[in-house]
Amino acid sequence: MKIDGYELSFSEEQLDFILKEKMRTVELISKDFEGYQNLPDGDKKAIEHLVNAANMINDVALEQDHPLNLRLKEGLERASLRSSHAEKALELFNSLNGVIGFNGIDKEPVRIFKEARLLPGKNFYPDDLSVEEFHRILILMGQRGEIDEIRKILSARTMVRRNGDVLKAIDYTEYFSKQFSDIANELEAAAYYCTEPEFKDYLGWQVQALLQNNPDMDMLADKHWAKLQNTNLEFTISRENYEDEITGTVFDNPEIIKMLGKHNIHVVAKDTLGCRVGIVNRAETEKILMSKKMLPYFAKWMPYSEQYTQDNVDEENLRQSMVDVDLIALTGDYAMCRGGITAAQNLPNNDKTAVQTGGGRRNVYHRQVRFSRDEERDKKLLDKLVDPALHSYIDKSKVIVFVIGHENGHSLGPGSVYQNSLGMYKHIIEEHKANVVSIASVAEVAKKGADFDKETLRKIYASWIVGNLFLRAKPILSQPHRVADLMEFNYLLESKAIWFDDRKKLHIDFDIISMTMYKLLEETIRVQLSKSVEVASEFINRWATWGEWSRYIAEVQQELGVKPYIKIITEF
Ligand SMILES: [Zn+2]
Repeated sequence: MKIDGYELSFSEEQLDFILKEKMRTVELISKDFEGYQNLPDGDKKAIEHLVNAANMINDVALEQDHPLNLRLKEGLERASLRSSHAEKALELFNSLNGVIGFNGIDKEPVRIFKEARLLPGKNFYPDDLSVEEFHRILILMGQRGEIDEIRKILSARTMVRRNGDVLKAIDYTEYFSKQFSDIANELEAAAYYCTEPEFKDYLGWQVQALLQNNPDMDMLADKHWAKLQNTNLEFTISRENYEDEITGTVFDNPEIIKMLGKHNIHVVAKDTLGCRVGIVNRAETEKILMSKKMLPYFAKWMPYSEQYTQDNVDEENLRQSMVDVDLIALTGDYAMCRGGITAAQNLPNNDKTAVQTGGGRRNVYHRQVRFSRDEERDKKLLDKLVDPALHSYIDKSKVIVFVIGHENGHSLGPGSVYQNSLGMYKHIIEEHKANVVSIASVAEVAKKGADFDKETLRKIYASWIVGNLFLRAKPILSQPHRVADLMEFNYLLESKAIWFDDRKKLHIDFDIISMTMYKLLEETIRVQLSKSVEVASEFINRWATWGEWSRYIAEVQQELGVKPYIKIITEF
């Protein structure tokens, strides 16, 4: 079947199989949700406009991601009216939120259309521009003295197009002027209706950022956004630059590096936009904030704490807002579910001026993403791998405790000077440390006033072990989180805090988990304190082994089937 001259790569039967067997759902809240019902009418009206804005931002992200996206999505939508084949292809398109993308399992990208090519520069750059030509043109432009244009080409907020034998950069506010003006209108309407001055104020700045060709407005909008802590509503326009694989290549070219240095040109990869709308869950947010207040206490509780200064437990943390959010909409970059969907996010990133000028960050936890799991599969997994006496302790609502501990864990321990000295191993060790801090500290958090009784602690431990440490495949070094999980699994096994009986079912010695993890934390901190790449490498080799039980667990996981595609269900 052809859409607009492009051939679908999947038959209807193949799509049936993918949608039925390989796709899971993330269900966002509906209008029946209590937290929505309880909102003042003004905030409910505001949400309608925020959701409109979110949908418009999705179109912007589609245009940034691939030149064929908008055209072929429209084609699929039209064809869906009379063809179930097209309707199913559209569903897969919406899961990737694009014509092509990786699914996190297969080595080859998934193409909705046979002719769709993976573009390293996405649609930020002309689709026929090679890295070599890009560099050649930049050098030519440098010789011609077109320094301002080069500066724009290498900025995070421009679309780059051909202009005769060179390139030109178009600021997002110009390239997307129609869309940004429509989005700004929706945000103004939302600001008019919403009941909270702080949120209104932020929306006002965000409107200006969309209308003015001036990065300082983004900075000001970011700063107002990052401070939001006590509002009902959550609205984020995310700007992250992990997709663009062209801009950063200039660092491989000594001639260009020299030119950039001479003219003091700052290089940042292109931002893809995403949008999130939600309602702040006050009760759960309180719990997150409580953990933040404990940070100074835990800074002292950390092993060898007298030997290093902890550069994160200072004002930086006071400039960190944190909210747990019930989600209404996820669009754009957030909805490009290419191998996963994000469960929590701390923005702005380091490349943004707001952060560089002391604006602080905002950490938003995604409740419905956390809750979305394949229940039936989870149940089968327990039956296969876990002692029946432990089943009642597997409770996904307790996952948040681990996640909060992990995020806080990044703020504790030896600072960035120590972390960075571990070279290529720094991410693995740092993610591992954050995990270990989280689990090792939970019992102490309970003592310091969190209302975790003994049963709750057991649920936190068991849900973490089964949910995180049971891996689906042997991790590679470029997956720091997974390597970290494997290290902890092996450490617990060797310490006999967990074991498998002769029916191959998991048992946990709850009494020694906390103690064992603190011991592991001591060893981990010693690695960071060593500032030695060799010590880090040895530590990882010692613990990240792919043993008998890991192999068995991964086999069982594969047998039960993995669902790499995600469908986001929204009602608004
Ligand atoms: Zn982390």
